[in-house]
Amino acid sequence: RIVYVNGDYVPEEEAKVSIFDRGFLMADAVYEVTSVLDGKLIDFAGHRARLGRSLTELQMDAPVTDDELLEIHRELVKRNGITDGLVYLQVTRGNPGDRDFAFPNPAVKPGLFLFTQSKPGLADAPAAKAGWKIISIPDERWGRRDIKTTQLLYPSLGKMMAKKAGVDDAWLVEDGFVTEGTSNNAYIVKGRRIITRALSHDILHGITRAAVLRMAKEAQLEVEERSFTIEEAKDADEAFVTSASAFVMPVVEIDGATLGSGKPGPIAARLREIYIEESRKVAV
Ligand code: PMP
Repeated sequence: RIVYVNGDYVPEEEAKVSIFDRGFLMADAVYEVTSVLDGKLIDFAGHRARLGRSLTELQMDAPVTDDELLEIHRELVKRNGITDGLVYLQVTRGNPGDRDFAFPNPAVKPGLFLFTQSKPGLADAPAAKAGWKIISIPDERWGRRDIKTTQLLYPSLGKMMAKKAGVDDAWLVEDGFVTEGTSNNAYIVKGRRIITRALSHDILHGITRAAVLRMAKEAQLEVEERSFTIEEAKDADEAFVTSASAFVMPVVEIDGATLGSGKPGPIAARLREIYIEESRKVAV
């Protein structure tokens, strides 16, 4: 695999990052994951805009221009012959040459790392036909989940709790209400109404969330942005999650309670189709 490291395209074995890079020492880094379908980037503009916001929130400089960023994504997709898969991008505060809690002053050059992952058949994952089972766990992450940092230890522990429980993922609960999934936004459906937590510092502002809510409204579904409890979710007609890599993924079981028929609900299934179809049309 060819990866991108600070201006160079190199075989992954040759990629090098300093042990003093603050991304490595302190998770002082932000990232994005953009899906690739038919060799094209899904919602690149959205991911680029969110990256800009994450960088601003952490007072980090953009390592390259927006046009250069698109060019690097495309070049990696091409060099690695990716038809369906992902591009992972990470920007770190860089390498100050030593370890110190304070940001380097003056700032050092940010680190920029990208790699691809090939996932043939990404759009027709068998999991979408079966739907996910999930458990709920406490949300023990920090308070700025709207910034997409590489501080992913708690979500990773959450995924392991889900695995141990024999299910696919976990929904995080804070003060009695669901925030989001370990790596996705969470929704319930009642009748023709889709309910999902409102945007705030408590959750990541999903790029897929924005697109799916827009498409839901276009499909004459009602959208209600408010918090919900696990009890309400267990009682809902349907549930689903969204993310750049899972698209729209139906949820069929919550903490052991089966939703509806135990099969993906019609609204989640339909939104998945619409999202994939519409996104392919405008992919770059
Ligand atoms: N919430 C969290 C905590 C996530 O990690 C992700 C995916 N990175 C999402 C939501 C979904 O965001 P997006 O649709 O932009 O992938």
